[in-house]
Amino acid sequence: MSDNQAIPGDKIAIIEEYEGGKNTFEDGHNVRATVVGTTEIDKKNRIALVHNLKFTGIPEVNDIVVGTVAAVMSSMIAVSINYVNNNRTKSNVECICQTRHLRKKNVALVNDVVVLKIIAHKNGTIHATISEPELGVLYTKCKKCGGKVIPMRDAIKCTECNWIDERKLSNNFGKSNFVKLGE
Ligand SMILES: [Zn+2]
Repeated sequence: MSDNQAIPGDKIAIIEEYEGGKNTFEDGHNVRATVVGTTEIDKKNRIALVHNLKFTGIPEVNDIVVGTVAAVMSSMIAVSINYVNNNRTKSNVECICQTRHLRKKNVALVNDVVVLKIIAHKNGTIHATISEPELGVLYTKCKKCGGKVIPMRDAIKCTECNWIDERKLSNNFGKSNFVKLGE
C-alpha cells in the first residue's frame, strides 16, 4: 500500500493491473481520480481507489467524534456531533450510543461533552460506542447544583455541594480542550 495525493483526472493506476475503486473512473487505459484525495493502491485485491479529502461532516465507522449530549434515555444517549476526528462540523448530525451495559446511574447528562467512536451506520442512524477507556465524558457538571466536579476513581464529586455521582468518564476527563463546548 502507498499513499499519494490526487486531483480529479490524475492517473492513479493502469487498468491492466488494477480495477478502479471508490472515487475513480476508467478511461480505457488508466484508473483516474474523480475527487481531490489520497490514493490507495490495494495490491492484495488489485483495486486502486481515492479517499475523499473533502470533509462532509458525516462521520464514518471508526471515526472519533466529540459531541454534546442532546438526550438521555434509559438505555442510550443521543449526541449532537461537534467534531469528527478533530474537524469542526456544523452539520448537526446526531449519533446514538448504547449505555445499558455500563450499569451506571448516570453515564452522561444532557449538555455533557462526550467523546465516542463510530461503530455503524444502520437504517440512517449513526451508532457509536462509549465503552473504551479514552471514550466517555470530557466535561460535566454537578447534577444537584451545577457546580464544578472533580473525578474520584470512576465517580465524580462536586466541589460546591460534595454530591458524589457516577459518569462514564473518558481517561482524558479534565485534560481535553473540548471542555469549552459544555461551558
Ligand atoms: Zn453540586
